[in-house]
Amino acid sequence: MTLPAAIGFLTAVHRGAGQVPQGTFASLGHRADTRDDIDGDTLFTSLLHTGAPEGARARGRGSALVFAGELYNQGELRSVLPRGTDPADDAGLVLALFDHYDLHAFRLLNGRFAALVHTAGRVVLATDHAGSVPLYLTAAPGRVLAATEAKALRDAPGGRPLAAARPVRRLPGVHQVPAGTVLEIALGTGDCTAHRTWTPQLSRRILPEKEAVEAVRRSLERAVRARTGQETPLVVLSGGIDSSSVAALAALGRGGPIDTVSMGTDDADEFPEARVVADHIGSTHSEITITTAELLRRLPHAVRAAESLDPDIIEYLLPLTALYLRMGGAGRRILTGYGADIPLGGMHREDRLPALDTALSHDMATFDGLNEMSPVLSGVGGHWSTHPYWDREVLDLLVSLEAGLKRRYGQDKWVLRAAMGDLLPAQTVLRPKLGVHEGSGTTSSFSRLLTGAGVGEAGVHHAKRLVVQELFDEVVVAGRDPDEVDTAQTVQLVADRLARSSPVIA
Ligand code: AMP
Ligand code: MG
Repeated sequence: MTLPAAIGFLTAVHRGAGQVPQGTFASLGHRADTRDDIDGDTLFTSLLHTGAPEGARARGRGSALVFAGELYNQGELRSVLPRGTDPADDAGLVLALFDHYDLHAFRLLNGRFAALVHTAGRVVLATDHAGSVPLYLTAAPGRVLAATEAKALRDAPGGRPLAAARPVRRLPGVHQVPAGTVLEIALGTGDCTAHRTWTPQLSRRILPEKEAVEAVRRSLERAVRARTGQETPLVVLSGGIDSSSVAALAALGRGGPIDTVSMGTDDADEFPEARVVADHIGSTHSEITITTAELLRRLPHAVRAAESLDPDIIEYLLPLTALYLRMGGAGRRILTGYGADIPLGGMHREDRLPALDTALSHDMATFDGLNEMSPVLSGVGGHWSTHPYWDREVLDLLVSLEAGLKRRYGQDKWVLRAAMGDLLPAQTVLRPKLGVHEGSGTTSSFSRLLTGAGVGEAGVHHAKRLVVQELFDEVVVAGRDPDEVDTAQTVQLVADRLARSSPVIA
């Protein structure tokens, strides 16, 4: 199977009969609508699927489950099911576990998913440990609507405020399910309780170098293998240590060539660095150049896919969104090197361990809700992306290692570099970190667009925030087609507004 059975859903659960919800998604997929009647409640589901919608739904006695995404520890999970239970797919597996453990089933899963279970007058909404597939809801007595994209709920009947979930700014009544959380909602009253199923480790482990290096290698190898389907995988390759490690392990696991792709702009690229890796591992490699003008035209698409209001996150996500839109062709399974820097403190370039662990602890406590890992970013091009460094086991291991294993001998991400030494060229293993928005010149081109419109240097960051907010209002809140939203016009609008309100800064 190349892609998960479903990559998104919109489900409405009503006490008694109710309206069939209409909602749009940015992810590309087929739509399959179903209706289930369970003990007097009605469940309407609109699945965003990839050809086999049955694989994303499961029915039990008095219960139903909708599942978008995939699991990475099926073998382990099957081993705890009662004898004779042999579910055909991830949805069936999760519902069988739910029968056995109730909502604690979600404490067992290592995956990239969003799920909804309806059983005995309760609606249960669950995210994976990292909340990597965003999940939104509105709830009121007798009614719960949930969807994997906030915009799918923009026309939903208003919900009431929920203390257990995070309100989505600029979409009143819509909330996001936190990462690593199960929300349990009593359908009759609309009362909502949050149960954490995962939390980042706070303690640190001391391991001998060799043990730490071997554990990282083993864990990452398993995570890459679990994410590699039957078809040739595609790795988005920057040539940095993170994505190069994933590509090398994918090639090793397959015992044959994989596909790799690098993007650059007319401003900057890392093509030579990525080429070194591609040659070394023998991948079928391609280079895609995206002009700065095209990149900036994709800004509304990035906001619509990420549904984030954070200008730094949008800027960071823009180059890859543009790449996924340009790739074309049939839906691919894509592995990335995303997120290694967070548990390894890779952005940290000085030799001070306290500062490294402070930054790391802060990042692990604040990643939730940014939607950096959302599959919608590649879903807009019809692809499915997955991030081995944020595999639950890999992440737990990396976070927990004491800081001196991360920063050692003057190198950042030392334990990872040491774990990959035999599979990559020395120059790749030693290469320092460059973020995708830096390597592609995205940051500077977005800034130039604003200064070109008359925004002063000091006002650029604030202006970026306003531009992103304006775009969010257009493509998420108002549901407009991103191709009809003009980045340059939006930038001018913001620049003019700033100039009027505070001519000194602007
Ligand atoms: P970063 O956090 O900047 O390392 O980017 C996250 C991931 O995006 C990397 O690990 C790569 O998988 C991918 N990526 C970053 N830059 C590029 C690029 N120029 N071309 C292709 N993929 C990239
Ligand atoms: Mg990188």
